[in-house]
Amino acid sequence: MKAGERGAPVMNGASTIIRASDLRKSYGDRVALEGVSIAVNRGEIVGLLGPNGAGKTTTLSILSGVLTPDAGSVSIDGHDLATAKAQARECLGLVPQSLALYPTLTAVENLMFFGRIQGLSSRQASEGSLKLLEEVGLSDRAHDAVEEFSGGMKRRLNIACGMLHSPTAIMLDEPTVGVDPQSRERIFTVIEAAAARGAAILYSTNYMEEAERLCDRIILIDHGSIVARGTTTELIALAGTETRLEVTTRRALAPGWCKGMAGVSELPWAVAEGFAAALSVASIDHVPALIRRAGEMGVEVIEFHVHRPNLQDAFIKLTGHALRDAPT
Ligand code: ATP
Repeated sequence: MKAGERGAPVMNGASTIIRASDLRKSYGDRVALEGVSIAVNRGEIVGLLGPNGAGKTTTLSILSGVLTPDAGSVSIDGHDLATAKAQARECLGLVPQSLALYPTLTAVENLMFFGRIQGLSSRQASEGSLKLLEEVGLSDRAHDAVEEFSGGMKRRLNIACGMLHSPTAIMLDEPTVGVDPQSRERIFTVIEAAAARGAAILYSTNYMEEAERLCDRIILIDHGSIVARGTTTELIALAGTETRLEVTTRRALAPGWCKGMAGVSELPWAVAEGFAAALSVASIDHVPALIRRAGEMGVEVIEFHVHRPNLQDAFIKLTGHALRDAPT
């Protein structure tokens, strides 16, 4: 793992199912990808984590053959997407961000339709549909029209449609947007089951907690470049191990407000929004003195919390801005 590794070489072992090298893509003058390299192994769940506009959808669209890159190459289970597109696409399942379902068809009819266009026989599609409906928890709604489904149910069916042909490479683009916690857990279970069966999974999200919960490895992407990759533990180590105190105040605190206090230092890079201050503290025993110091400066502290370093910290440290609502 290494910061600033744009275009870094990727693993090329026998178990690498999804492999992309030095992908570049622009839309007119707007550069969307600046040399992205990715490798996902059999049985592995890799998170592609970045803010809105970072380039996640563009990466997944290229990896699944929906978009052609300006430069770079992709292979899926050993098939080059440029020269053996049909074989490569047979191995991959894409779950797009926007729902790709026919609202007036039932859940089973949607699955049958996608199964048949993915080349399954009617029997294979039918058997696979029943099994997947069970996995995504929709067996009892199999014969209901999709237009009657909740958002979470549609998301789960969308995932089933992308996985019906048992792809060895599965790419999911922010599949939990707008779903309730129960549906999200069900989605995670389905993804984990697919990985346990040996599929390579690339999971795009801008929810740090999801990446932390689900993924074996995480790739942090920002402004079309990979800024770091590694396990959650490795990435968090990049952010340092200091205990952080986040203080929210009614008015802004002047820079240098806690100057001279032993064991305390300001972390201006960690402040994401509002009237907030972030501090590295040697011990939480410093908290009362800090609140007193703010009070002496005429600033009321309305909230504070002690914070263990996480992926958000790693991202902020590497990019200088927060994971969500970053400028695009
Ligand atoms: P989100 O989390 O919002 O889905 P993302 O990480 O998936 O974002 P992309 O959709 O890949 O990001 O977009 C990357 C960049 O490319 C953004 O600056 C976006 O505005 C731009 N972009 C994406 N699609 C197009 C398009 N069809 N035409 C022009 N610019 C585009």
